[in-house]
Amino acid sequence: MKIGTRIEASPCRLCGGKERQVLATRGRGMEPLTTVVCRGCGLVSHHPLPDPEEVAAFYATRYRVAYKGGWEPKRKHALRALRGAIARAGRLAPLLPAGGRVLDVGASSGEFTYVMQRAGFAARGIEPNQGYGEFARRTYGVAVETGGLAEAAVAPASLDLVTLNHVLEHLADPWDALRRIGGWLAPGGLLFIEVPDLSGVRKQAANTFHGAHIWNFTPQTLVLLAWRQGFVPLSAEDAAGTSVVFRKRRPGDAPSAGAGPELAERLLRQVATAGSPLAYLLSGAPFTRRAARLRRNIEERITCARHATVRAMADAVITAAGLPTRRREDPIRLDAAA
Ligand SMILES: [Zn+2]
Repeated sequence: MKIGTRIEASPCRLCGGKERQVLATRGRGMEPLTTVVCRGCGLVSHHPLPDPEEVAAFYATRYRVAYKGGWEPKRKHALRALRGAIARAGRLAPLLPAGGRVLDVGASSGEFTYVMQRAGFAARGIEPNQGYGEFARRTYGVAVETGGLAEAAVAPASLDLVTLNHVLEHLADPWDALRRIGGWLAPGGLLFIEVPDLSGVRKQAANTFHGAHIWNFTPQTLVLLAWRQGFVPLSAEDAAGTSVVFRKRRPGDAPSAGAGPELAERLLRQVATAGSPLAYLLSGAPFTRRAARLRRNIEERITCARHATVRAMADAVITAAGLPTRRREDPIRLDAAA
């Protein structure tokens, strides 16, 4: 199938449209991978969509081996995850009540769960990969359960925050995931989602699309999906990117515009113009990127070598960064006030 080819498919779950257009025929590492955009709304996905059972089996066993080269995170990956977790915790902690109940879905090696626990929240996680779940429990002593979202035992209305950090794009059924999470959240509860942002991507198409990313979101399609499943961004600032804090929808909330045929057109143009390997080379981006990666690797090696264990390293990095804190007053409970 050629780039730009129009195909008929089953109704889009976001807009009901049946027409897709091929955005790319290769993924990372030049693997054959057909990615399409819905002409009706701009939602980008694999084509055909994978079988949900195959996806579940893949994450239970093969995923980390395929993409990270082992069953356990290397120390530098744990360090990187920890730094991301500290930044996320710093953003989310001020929005939570004292002792807030937090669930990290796709908890990976457990760093976010650990940082939130250290900050005084009742944090736990679920992680489908057995090796990573075991690592999280053993290394940080956190409550990370092995399993997928559909098997998770969570009482209705029992959580103040659910986080999905680079998880939604991997799920066979994001609609089902958000519906379940909506049931788990207590009144005033929040949902944090971060996914890669397809808009503005200037990399080669071959580096953009990923065999494990079934869905490729833009801010517009992410917000529309969340709206359909009962959520709205907490602020306009949130809605501008693909790292978003959502709250539950209330009467009077309006859906945001932006997902539609124009978005599909824009993405088609973007991929067409970003695709040239020569343009990419001439942009200087590969060199800047390589230099930045080298600097990061050196710094990480030094930090990793300084500590005897991953846990000791994590504790030192958290202490140096300072624990995330809540605001002095409890946040206004939006849903309760409505
Ligand atoms: Zn659509």
